[in-house]
Amino acid sequence: MVKIGVLGLQGAVREHVRSIEACDAEAVVIKKTEQLAHIDGLIIPGGESTTMRRLMDKYGFIEPLKQFARDGKPMFGTCAGLIILAKKIVGYDEAHLGLMDITVERNSFGRQRESFEASLSIKGVADDFIGVFIRAPHIVSVGSDVDVLATYEDRIVAARQGQFLGCSFHPELTDDHRMTQYFINMVKETKE
Ligand code: GLN
Repeated sequence: MVKIGVLGLQGAVREHVRSIEACDAEAVVIKKTEQLAHIDGLIIPGGESTTMRRLMDKYGFIEPLKQFARDGKPMFGTCAGLIILAKKIVGYDEAHLGLMDITVERNSFGRQRESFEASLSIKGVADDFIGVFIRAPHIVSVGSDVDVLATYEDRIVAARQGQFLGCSFHPELTDDHRMTQYFINMVKETKE
């Protein structure tokens, strides 16, 4: 059985744990860097990217997570987690982990639409997936080796670059676990 970590500093941590367990994989809440050695893949949850970043600095997670990526382990960023993974953030000089070759824009669906649900067609996952968007970012542009998996109103809302998966919405907030299962399959393939 693969072990999937959920970065447990801030945000929708328990919901991801529940979704991983619903897919019959083992979930581990990651609060210390030492724990990274014992997991096969990591989910960075939604929440507030600036707060999460502050806690990542406080607990020394930046370099260990970059090493985790260099070790080839899969990482999945959802919403704020997507922002944490991105190489570029519109309006900011510096990225957080800067791992995935995408540019993201924060809170980009407008104030009047702070949160909403939309049915999405996600390549390799489902063609009727309900995405829950909460003050969501979107992906403005992607590098040449990034595969766009889903768009909503002409905006990229899910993408994959090899070991990295990211989406604007919260796949852990419904009982549809197909996006989580897609990531778990990535982790299984990497482990084999
Ligand atoms: N707006 C948040 C940010 O910029 C992300 C929101 C979320 O994760 N639901 O970090």
